[in-house]
Amino acid sequence: QGLIFSGIQPTHGIHLGNYLGALRNWVTLQESHRCIYCIVDQHALTTLQDAAQMRRNIHEVAAAILASGVDPKRSALFVQSSVAAHARLAWVLNCVTPMGWLNRMTQFKEKAGKHRENAPVGLFSYPVLMAADILVYRATHVPVGEDQKQHLELARDIAAIFNRKFESEFFPQPEPLILGEATRVMSLRDGTKKMSKSDTSDMSRINLTDDADAIAQKIRRAKSDAILGISFDRENRPEASNLLTIYAALAGSTRAEVEREYAEASFSDFKGRLADLAVEKLAPIAGEMRRLLADPGYLDSILEDGAAQARAVADPVLAQVHELVGFPRP
Ligand code: ATP
Ligand code: MG
Repeated sequence: QGLIFSGIQPTHGIHLGNYLGALRNWVTLQESHRCIYCIVDQHALTTLQDAAQMRRNIHEVAAAILASGVDPKRSALFVQSSVAAHARLAWVLNCVTPMGWLNRMTQFKEKAGKHRENAPVGLFSYPVLMAADILVYRATHVPVGEDQKQHLELARDIAAIFNRKFESEFFPQPEPLILGEATRVMSLRDGTKKMSKSDTSDMSRINLTDDADAIAQKIRRAKSDAILGISFDRENRPEASNLLTIYAALAGSTRAEVEREYAEASFSDFKGRLADLAVEKLAPIAGEMRRLLADPGYLDSILEDGAAQARAVADPVLAQVHELVGFPRP
């Protein structure tokens, strides 16, 4: 059966890539599994260092997760820093993870920019904290977008090296679950870059809080090419491929079906249809988010309740880790 863990950073409100690549699957997985969902503020602190913004984003992301259909009666939803076991396990894992493994992580290279010497240490060891997030629940499955595949592989390696060093079979090997048609949604401004919370251009992404006009405008202005008809060709038509993939994911159809339907359509006709579809699917979520954000006390109570549920699973795991490495029991 197994246990699901997944997280999302409160670096900004949730965008369409997070929704299609991760969140939508979180909702489906509640039907079949025990799920633990986390707003990872300690990860966000590696890039977002503004307390007021952090606080706002935590509420906005919590509202987006609930509005998308995560049910707090079935799944635990909480903020990472409220469950101390994550950071405590991360320290232990930092002590068994070779630096060379982290040196290979492409996300660090992308996020650290040109002046790597100035990047925070936390950004470098981010994947170790992520491994701790998963392993502190001994989770077996982790729904993520494609961009997190490398970090998941590292989490498996870290589980294995811990087990080897401490002669145990303590941690299971967590499996990535990369589900759906849109596992890597690209920027609306550049079809070769992933849609991202930390992109400085708001036109590059559709936020779950965008209203109908903003959604339509962003799609209308999305980069396109001069080829007639819509077809899937990541190499030569990255922008057309991205919009086609988004369409298929929102419509619940396959890429091939959408390709057939719009084989002779102009870009502007296709964009109009896509904008209508996106508004139809996303506007109700935005409405529900507004309702939830009007009651921050309710959001806090959900998050506190989720943290208590998470501690009940994580604390005994941390205690066993302390036993295995020779620390006093916490
Ligand atoms: P940041 O730019 O701050 O890293 P992000 O947009 O990458 O933000 P995260 O909080 O890092 O968002 O990731 C949350 C989840 O969303 C992860 O499972 C990640 O794989 C998924 N995800 C992020 N971007 C995309 C995307 N463009 N397409 C599909 N899935 C995505
Ligand atoms: Mg990210």
